[in-house]
Amino acid sequence: RSNAEKFEFQAEVSRLMDIIINSLYSNKDVFLRELISNASDALDKIRFLALTDKEVLGEGDNTKLEILMKLDKEKKILSIRDRGIGMTKDDLIKNLGTIAKSGTSAFVEKMQTGGDLNLIGQFGVGFYSVYLVADYVEVISKHNDDIQYVWESKADGSFAVSEDTWNEPLGRGTEIRLHLRDEAKEYLEEDKLKELVKKYSEFINFPIYLWASKQVDVEVPSDEEESSDEEETSETATTEEEEEETDEDSSEKKPKTKTVKETTYEWERLNDMKAIWLRNPKEVTEEEYSKFYHSLAKDFGDDKPLAWSHFIAEGDVEFKALLFVPPKAPHGLYENYYIDNKSNLKLFVRRVFISDEFDELLPKYLNFLKGLVDSDTLPLNVSREMLQQHSSLKTIKKKLIRKALDMIRKISDEDPDEFHNKDKPDAEKESEEDEKKGQYTKFWNEFGKSIKLGIIEDAQNRNRLAKLLRFESTKSEGKLASLDEYISRMKPGQKDIFYITGTSKEQLEKSPFLERLMKKNYEVIFFTDPVDEYLMQHLMDYEDKNFQNVSKEGLKLGKDSKLKDLKESFKELTDWWKGALFGVNIDSVKISNRLDNTPCVVVTPKYGWSANLEKIMQSQAL
Ligand code: ADP
Ligand code: MG
Repeated sequence: RSNAEKFEFQAEVSRLMDIIINSLYSNKDVFLRELISNASDALDKIRFLALTDKEVLGEGDNTKLEILMKLDKEKKILSIRDRGIGMTKDDLIKNLGTIAKSGTSAFVEKMQTGGDLNLIGQFGVGFYSVYLVADYVEVISKHNDDIQYVWESKADGSFAVSEDTWNEPLGRGTEIRLHLRDEAKEYLEEDKLKELVKKYSEFINFPIYLWASKQVDVEVPSDEEESSDEEETSETATTEEEEEETDEDSSEKKPKTKTVKETTYEWERLNDMKAIWLRNPKEVTEEEYSKFYHSLAKDFGDDKPLAWSHFIAEGDVEFKALLFVPPKAPHGLYENYYIDNKSNLKLFVRRVFISDEFDELLPKYLNFLKGLVDSDTLPLNVSREMLQQHSSLKTIKKKLIRKALDMIRKISDEDPDEFHNKDKPDAEKESEEDEKKGQYTKFWNEFGKSIKLGIIEDAQNRNRLAKLLRFESTKSEGKLASLDEYISRMKPGQKDIFYITGTSKEQLEKSPFLERLMKKNYEVIFFTDPVDEYLMQHLMDYEDKNFQNVSKEGLKLGKDSKLKDLKESFKELTDWWKGALFGVNIDSVKISNRLDNTPCVVVTPKYGWSANLEKIMQSQAL
């Protein structure tokens, strides 16, 4: 094409495309879901703009917010069209090839170590999955701010963009034309497309249509010669059904007709756009929630979400919400926690999608949750900035946190492996679903750090969060224990909750600080994650019990009548030590009852850094 401009794909994008083209991945269905999801995103965008400016929708067919699919069996083309926001020339160049998203290299890396291609959408590069099934792709797009352009590529390292002077004008939106490879012929079957939409895209909030064939009955004269009739039938793909006229009718001298099946085409609606969150929670099945989670989170792994909470808030601030705990932590959740960490909640106002980057709905530490909020109270026709300052957001946020923490606590409550259930009679234990077994451990392994960050960041909910805390201890026997469990095992007269921090349980078990406590059968918590040091600077008490780091000053192990005498008889020695250590950074030398075999240890002051924190800080110093 004479007016085509050629561009090279950005290097990472090019690598990504190579991987996709050469992939032996058998589930190629992914591409359709990704294209429909992009179409839906584009429709969301134009609908959002239309809230404040009706003009953007234009008129006639342009106002129909829909997704249209068509097949051309002869040319082996599948096309998917939307009346969404469309792309300008610049958008086409940037979004489809020259600017790599942060997920691009992460996904390439994943794929090289045997990752699941099915998760491509989570990395923000879903579009390129078209090359699983096509060897040539055209993207025709019309944005309100530009003329119509065509992007095209055979995935050979480059793409071309041309002013569109030959296709039918789209009005507004995007049409993706896939020239299917021979191995992907199955996507030319209507039934296959219907099945896929049902399976993966049933929760899309816009109507999806297929230009589908339909068998209709038509009356045709039947007084022609048999032979010519048959010929005609085969040409127009009709089949003879039955002779309608009977001998009696023919006596009335009506012209003889017969009914034949003929193929016609019409737009067939493939989804029914039920908004699951508007339904009564009692009427939604587990399977429906699970399927909805998969499409919402673009998480098409085999695992079900660990938990969900669907509720309808009434009163001053009305909203419906649906929250999910994913089965796995997303890629890089805790890297750059304070920088990259984005909300995963979608905000709707009266069913209209507003944003999925609304950080005002949940605190950072709960950003691992997926879900949505649909508010009836927030205004529809104001800017995003105005919305962000709306007074009811605070109320929504508060309720969401409550519900989220309740939902997480419920995972633990229902898990027969959890401490709370240990005392239940066996019969009841058995009636617990096997599925719930070990779910909290799973949760903890994936998202425990979020709970700890919550304790650090959210003073208001600290106690609720502390209840969710799990750890190993000198008495946990390889399992995870909770603070409630610890308290139930406390010795008579024990006032504090004992813990020790370090790099591993194995290292801590050998610590001289534990000798005496172990001997006296006190339980000591092992905190071995670097974040635990910060955690324990914020978690001062739990259920009226104080926390005591056993490597720090202030450890009290009940009354020891001998201690006072010992202090006196060894005063000379401790004074000598103080003198000998003069000039070293030391506060005091004391006789204590914290040790058993080891003659002496260095302890840190109550409000100073522990030795472990000292190490962590050193390792982080530049
Ligand atoms: P993601 O959807 O996660 O952003 P994709 O690889 O699926 O990643 O799409 C890349 C980008 O291309 C989108 O962010 C969007 O800007 C643009 N795009 C893709 N399909 C369409 C479409 N049908 N209409 C408008 N823009 C689109
Ligand atoms: Mg996408």
